Amino acid sequence: METTMNHFTPAPCFYLFNQEAAIVYPKLSGEFVNQSLKNIMGIVDHLLVSNPESLFLFDPASCNNQCHLFSLINAQLLSHAMTQQQQQQSDIKAEIPDKKFIYLSFFLSHAFLANSKLCEQVARKALQTMKSNEPTKQFCMFIKDPEGKSVRAARNAINVLFADHMKTVLSKREDPLFKELALLAHEPKLTSCEDNGPILYTLPKFAGVAYFVDAIFKEEISVQFKVKVVTKEGNGLLCHTVHHFPSVPVIVFEMVATDQTLSYKDFEEIAKKCPSFSQRNINQSKRHKNSDSCGFCTTRQINVEGYRERFQSIFERSNEMLLALGADFVLQRQKSFEGFFTNTVKYPLLTALFKESRDNIQKFCLSMDKPLSLSVLHAQPDSASFAAEDALIMDATFETHSKKRGLVLI
Ligand SMILES: [Zn+2]
Repeated sequence: METTMNHFTPAPCFYLFNQEAAIVYPKLSGEFVNQSLKNIMGIVDHLLVSNPESLFLFDPASCNNQCHLFSLINAQLLSHAMTQQQQQQSDIKAEIPDKKFIYLSFFLSHAFLANSKLCEQVARKALQTMKSNEPTKQFCMFIKDPEGKSVRAARNAINVLFADHMKTVLSKREDPLFKELALLAHEPKLTSCEDNGPILYTLPKFAGVAYFVDAIFKEEISVQFKVKVVTKEGNGLLCHTVHHFPSVPVIVFEMVATDQTLSYKDFEEIAKKCPSFSQRNINQSKRHKNSDSCGFCTTRQINVEGYRERFQSIFERSNEMLLALGADFVLQRQKSFEGFFTNTVKYPLLTALFKESRDNIQKFCLSMDKPLSLSVLHAQPDSASFAAEDALIMDATFETHSKKRGLVLI
């Protein structure tokens, strides 16, 4: 059957999802599935080389709260690919992640899960640029994945790949903090599976951030903080670049700052109801009318100078800020992991660092359940030029962003 496939490499379905096509897609022919997956991988390869503005699409909904680490992994992969392309000798010793991360991120793209037609539109435009044949109806249906089969398989596969990657990367370093991180990465409690859902692997946010802040410095990866200030009087935007290396891509942290009247959790409730929010409620009836406006989408601008002054000193200590945000996330959303960071016997260094970071939550006003706060909504990779723009991914739908970046046929 596999006349077009090389017998010495696994077929695309097995390569991507660790499962045969007949298991993942029982109703489709194996030959069609493998050919389609191969085409999708071709589209991904094309986008990565020719369209760095498509990077924001490589942001996987992996369901394990690791957007900071997935953006790091995809940034590491792309930086490596670019360095190779320019045939530069690099003395940066980075663990190169498996390229499969990029392919799986495309199947799990937040943008495509919010709008399955968008994936087809991006693929059509890419195929046209690649001068490939018009996609068949069957291929378009496959790419839209109406039964969620690709998403399920990709989510399992990315979690398995991520677990292996983190265990390997953290075990390769000799310093004492990394020894604790490696030990933590092997804790059985980090793997969960609920009600026939995917097997998820979650490195506690605080531990992931400790690795993240080390890696971005060592590997010279640019990071940009963009803060949307949300108040009852109106909105504003603040941008701050932490490390500026001439490299593509950039990891963009989209953050939210509130005033005395709102907490970060209040902001989340408001934003979910807004049709212009990239992570808006999928259920249209739970969103406000397009003609109405709310605290999230109001065009009333406020003066953000006071916020800029307040955040300046915090951004100057961005590692401590990120660690404090990681600690706050554990306290608010990963309570079952808190015990790892109060264990002076098994994790003495992490416990000490957690205590210090916990104190910084109040000092820097980073608690997500208190007013006058600063917190992270999401982190994703982006091209250097779009990262430098005064625009937030959260402020528009993925469809709008894709159109603006010329990634779909008009
Ligand atoms: Zn709104």
